[in-house]
Amino acid sequence: MSKKDNKRINKREFIKQGIVGSCGLAFCLSGMASIANSFNGKATAPPLNPGKLWKWSKEAIYYVNTPRGIKCRLCPQACVLKEGETGDCKTNLREDGKLFSITYGNPCAVHVDPIEKKPLYHFLPSSRAFSIATAGCNLACLNCQNWEISQSSPYDTRNHDLMPADVIEQCQAYDCRSIAYTYSDPIAFYEYTLDTSKLAKEKNIKNVIISAGYINEEPLRNWCKYIDAANIDLKSFSNETYEMLNAGTLEPVLESLKILKEEGVWLEITNLVVPSWTDDTDMIRKMCDWLYENGFNDVPLHFSRFHPMYKLKNIPATPVETLNMAREIGLSSGLNYVYIGNVPGIGEHTYCPDCGEIVIQRRGFRTSFKNMEKGICGNCGKQIAGVWE
Ligand code: SF4
Ligand SMILES: [Zn+2]
Repeated sequence: MSKKDNKRINKREFIKQGIVGSCGLAFCLSGMASIANSFNGKATAPPLNPGKLWKWSKEAIYYVNTPRGIKCRLCPQACVLKEGETGDCKTNLREDGKLFSITYGNPCAVHVDPIEKKPLYHFLPSSRAFSIATAGCNLACLNCQNWEISQSSPYDTRNHDLMPADVIEQCQAYDCRSIAYTYSDPIAFYEYTLDTSKLAKEKNIKNVIISAGYINEEPLRNWCKYIDAANIDLKSFSNETYEMLNAGTLEPVLESLKILKEEGVWLEITNLVVPSWTDDTDMIRKMCDWLYENGFNDVPLHFSRFHPMYKLKNIPATPVETLNMAREIGLSSGLNYVYIGNVPGIGEHTYCPDCGEIVIQRRGFRTSFKNMEKGICGNCGKQIAGVWE
């Protein structure tokens, strides 16, 4: 499907178009590079009974009863649910006049990853992140690289029994400095993320979210009390493209970026450059200019290479020249740290924005400091933005 022969698809229609649940999917996420270690702890939980609460389902925090049904207030999709219905994310279920998160304590993917894989390049480099995800997502990107879980219901995946305290225990056992809520979108397991990150903070474990940032202000600010770092997908800089490609809208994501910055969460941004969808030079320039004008010049921006995936299998991988062009635009807009992702050997190093020296050298997920100590460039004394220890 190319952009021009696609028409606007809302999330519910999109899901109905035959996205098949992935029974039996447990650890493996297609399209992901190999992992350092796979969690191999507890037995998987039995499948959930469709339409039923699981024993650990937790009442959702953000919803309100309206004459039309229960309205979820977690994200801008603003689902209104009748009894027995789940939201667009497939993870919030209405039962007995209440809204429940059915993914609580039930991740379907658990890995130990290098933090660079998130990608987070300026946050505790070379450390390990205990990474968890449940099924479900509140967006429906045609190019999703983790669609097997993000577009599945938790009733269709094989899940682990892993309550927040278990996550902390495993994180420590695997010597991870952070917990990453990732792969699908932690908005789909908001309450689980929130409770786990509260416990983690008490144990001096960092919390990082990898998300599309399609969330309302109040829950996001609540998250920010416990979240140390975030990589937010800014999927394009066009509302129309957001509607067609992702089943979302642009403005809430921009608001989330502002809130995360305001709340002092370490922030990095990923923009996946999809040929014919998000590779327009003018749009990329508008996005980079907006970032600069809104004070995101020290926020690392990752232009990531698209690979044919999911509903966009007929679109070729992003040419490297396009990614180089995007990076040049970012730098010329005044952004200090602009990277290329998913292309080993290109656009990976961190350069000091003042003197131009390499301060961090990367090859894939391998990182080595060059002439930088405690975030200070050894050549010119410039403070490199980030969380280094
Ligand atoms: S979090 Fe889920 S149920 Fe709530 S509004 Fe968003 S998509 Fe709908
Ligand atoms: Zn320097």
